[in-house]
Amino acid sequence: MYDPQPSASHYIDGAYVEDNTGTPIPVIYPATGEVIATLHAATPAVIDAALAAAEIAQKQWARVTPRERGRVLTRAAQIMRARNRELSVLETRDTGKPLQETLVADATSGADALEYFGGVANGLTGEHIPLGDDWVYTIREALGVCVGIGAWNYPTQIACWKAAPALACGNAMVFKPSETTPLCALKIAEILTEAGAPAGLFNVVQGMGAVGAALVTDPRVAKVSLTGSVPTGRKVYAAAAEQMKHVTMELGGKSPLVIFDDADLDNAVGGAINGNFYSSGQVCSNGTRVFVQKGIKEAFLARLAERLKNAVIGDPLDEATSFGPMVSDRQMQIVQGYIEKGKAEGARLVSGGGRVDRDGFYLEPTVFADVTDDMTIAREEIFGPVMAVLDFDTEAEAIARANATEYGLSAGVFTRDLSRGHRVIGQLRAGSCFINSYNDAPVEAPFGGVKASGVGRENSKAALDHWSQLKSVYVRMGDVEAAF
Ligand code: NAD
Repeated sequence: MYDPQPSASHYIDGAYVEDNTGTPIPVIYPATGEVIATLHAATPAVIDAALAAAEIAQKQWARVTPRERGRVLTRAAQIMRARNRELSVLETRDTGKPLQETLVADATSGADALEYFGGVANGLTGEHIPLGDDWVYTIREALGVCVGIGAWNYPTQIACWKAAPALACGNAMVFKPSETTPLCALKIAEILTEAGAPAGLFNVVQGMGAVGAALVTDPRVAKVSLTGSVPTGRKVYAAAAEQMKHVTMELGGKSPLVIFDDADLDNAVGGAINGNFYSSGQVCSNGTRVFVQKGIKEAFLARLAERLKNAVIGDPLDEATSFGPMVSDRQMQIVQGYIEKGKAEGARLVSGGGRVDRDGFYLEPTVFADVTDDMTIAREEIFGPVMAVLDFDTEAEAIARANATEYGLSAGVFTRDLSRGHRVIGQLRAGSCFINSYNDAPVEAPFGGVKASGVGRENSKAALDHWSQLKSVYVRMGDVEAAF
């Protein structure tokens, strides 16, 4: 198993780099509160070294054939799969997420992205546009040095979802993980080197928001892809706009999950559990506003209460555990604040609401019923295990209320009426939607939000448009006509 204490904080130009003068970053195991590693935030010299290395590597990498670039990514995917258990244990120690989850949703999802974009790289071509005797051809070019900035909930997945398409398209990357979960991105950097990526192609620098801001504003950087909250997204988007940089913004949500009377009850309850309690609710696309049609409401709440009893809350390193701690004491306190607001504003607490009696940052899976649209817990992203159940009568009402939010990341509908499923999803303003399912994120499908939830798409062929740009070349075969 990997030692959680890396040999140094940063990974630059194909090697570990330390600068002990940077602000210390303690890494805390959320299940116990113990410090398992200490890293240091990047100093300006470290940031400069990473960008300089990326700049050199990118120029060479862009000249490598897409097929060879793809081969490196595919090899990295194979190494990640072979080391899935070690990577998953490290991810669990970094985030507190149950090993039961990390074994199937983190390094494996990262490997899927590396494998997918490793394959897609072969198809990176331009176009030929005939214009009579003349023609235009297009070249799909890399953007240059790109910056990835991650959130703490899916550190491995986020790093790979950004690095894989970026590198496939011929870019280099400097990645800054969340300061809360800095460990796994370093392993991805090691693995990419082992798979044959040239030194400097994928660099990792640690640090808080200030390090991210320094990267975003550096003129050497062509693109910034952020996964984080809406307030951070606003700052980063604005800073990038100053220098007209490309951006991808994967931000927060308060997504609706609409359950009609005719839904399969157990599937609907399962969808609501997946969309609220997986990763202790720390998932951006969660369906945290669960609109339940009045005819099925009591049955839904009763079945949900029964199934919540099956949650195995405990040591995340025990594979039987299905519900772990929050990522940090701070995040736990934020969520506790929302639970108190829910009670104070008149929502009916039907499950959980308190801390779990053990060390670490554990909160019970919590369900509020009789939630109304104006309550804070129905409006703000909580990012914890708190489900808000709201009642509705008609389809039109559900659609209008589901859309009455500044966010638009995801949306789901449970119904046995397929026409209604498609009709409702067609009217919900969200980027990643589900019919009779919730929170699936295969690499083959575009992922991203509308409205305040973000711009751009990750995954799928659509991501290529966000990590490359087209050069068009007009070729004249005859003489040039000019006015004088
Ligand atoms: P956050 O916004 O606090 O931080 C995200 C990252 O941005 C961190 O690495 C942080 O250090 C960095 N950062 C902060 N200020 C910055 C600045 N001024 N300039 C540059 N970088 C800066 O988010 P978080 O608390 O780490 O993560 C939770 C949030 O992320 C939630 O809102 C969640 O919905 C969102 N999220 C979105 C997705 C998605 O794909 N849409 C996925 C996971 C999480």
